[in-house]
Amino acid sequence: FRKEEHIYPPEYEGHFDGVMITCAEIHERIQQLASLIHTDYKGIRPVLVCTLKGASPFYIHLSDALKEIRQGFDMEFVRASSYEGTTTSGQVEFVGELKMSSLQGRHILLIEDIVDTWTTLSALIPMLQEQGKPASVEVCSLLDKRLEVKKYEAKYVGFSIPNKFVIGYGLDYEELYRDLKDIFVISQLGISFDASTLHK
Ligand code: 5GP
Ligand code: MG
Ligand code: MG
Repeated sequence: FRKEEHIYPPEYEGHFDGVMITCAEIHERIQQLASLIHTDYKGIRPVLVCTLKGASPFYIHLSDALKEIRQGFDMEFVRASSYEGTTTSGQVEFVGELKMSSLQGRHILLIEDIVDTWTTLSALIPMLQEQGKPASVEVCSLLDKRLEVKKYEAKYVGFSIPNKFVIGYGLDYEELYRDLKDIFVISQLGISFDASTLHK
């Protein structure tokens, strides 16, 4: 466990094996990602598509950084879910109100929390390309596990991480832990914890 002070709700005591990335590190990296994006999209207004729910803190902070450097963008949201517990179920569902007609000829930047097996994006990217007819689709992911080389690659990656199940900063385990500032590795207690005991 790294020595820095981390704040989290008291009900999470003992639920982490260690800190993977601190919020300070995340925010520093977000500034760099925003600059890279601005360099590539100068004169273009990309459509930033947030994949809910996990990517939402990253999306908010990245869009704030883009505003600071006067990079314009449009905002869209899609809900993609393929996970059950800590292993992928392979089934991807999309819920949301992303209007395909609004994407025609546009440059899409998909904002993800983490790319792992690419199950989610391997379904979402072709769907956007076929139904939306955008000019381009790129991916900006806060985390990348780089499990294997795939057909797709994220153009912008915040951090490459080892193959551990991480939580916090939007990333959940059974809907818990999204409310953490930092990114942690989940502990055995965290995995076995009954979330329903907190629902009051
Ligand atoms: P993929 O489709 O690339 O396998 O997985 C993408 C989704 O799986 C992510 O958007 C995220 O919701 C979930 N996921 C993958 N790895 C992790 C992880 O280490 N921690 C958490 N909390 N979710 C993960
Ligand atoms: Mg995601
Ligand atoms: Mg999840």
